Amino acid sequence: MKIIFLGTNGWFDSKTGNTISTLIETPQAHIVLDAGNGLAKLDQYAREDKPVYIFLSHFHLDHVEGLHTLAKFRYRQGITIIVPKGKRPVLNRFMNWPYTIPPKALKVRVKIREIGKKGLKIPGAQVITLPLKHINGANGYRFLINGKIIAYAADTGYCQGAVDLGQQADWFITECAMKAGGGSDDWPHLNPQTAARLALAAQAKKLILTHFDAVAYPTSKERRRGVKLAQNIFKPTLGAFDGMAIKYD
Ligand SMILES: [Zn+2]
Ligand SMILES: [Zn+2]
Repeated sequence: MKIIFLGTNGWFDSKTGNTISTLIETPQAHIVLDAGNGLAKLDQYAREDKPVYIFLSHFHLDHVEGLHTLAKFRYRQGITIIVPKGKRPVLNRFMNWPYTIPPKALKVRVKIREIGKKGLKIPGAQVITLPLKHINGANGYRFLINGKIIAYAADTGYCQGAVDLGQQADWFITECAMKAGGGSDDWPHLNPQTAARLALAAQAKKLILTHFDAVAYPTSKERRRGVKLAQNIFKPTLGAFDGMAIKYD
């Protein structure tokens, strides 16, 4: 089983990478976290014929703009897009003319499902979701896959929902949009220190930082500096880059 980072930028593409999308490979399914422009690389990594499940945290464009590339995929078992409860109309509005090809006109079969408090089961995984702290709202996810826990929090400020999702997670993937010490109550995001404090509070085993804002982190060197600051607080921290793969079994 592998976690593969398809896109690791926040806000827009730059030479550091594409906007955010992360693939979790399981024996039963391709699980995708958010659909930024990194999603276009899905067929480079997810070659086996398995069902695809795309979990959306929220609808800021850097998390959904890659849905435009669904048109090139041919997964025979179809693609299910999962959105937080009540958000189906938002996705229907975006995945429609004149913005892009609506699901029913695509060659690949696309379904949309909502996830609420009860969570849901997909082949090989159990999923729960909690609201995070972000402008216009965002949800995080926690997956139990073959005895391992992978939690995902993007986009968010420091909040209890994120701590709860990351409890004892084997891999806690969080955003890191802001530079050290940065953040705003008007538009909440994490920085290296707040992300590390989240992982500490959650007693996660490992933290992976992704969603580095394209302006705040113009180079990989800047990212590495941010990761070091996080490691000072929470040692088992890694920084993601496009194309990075991690084995988790
Ligand atoms: Zn974002
Ligand atoms: Zn956002």
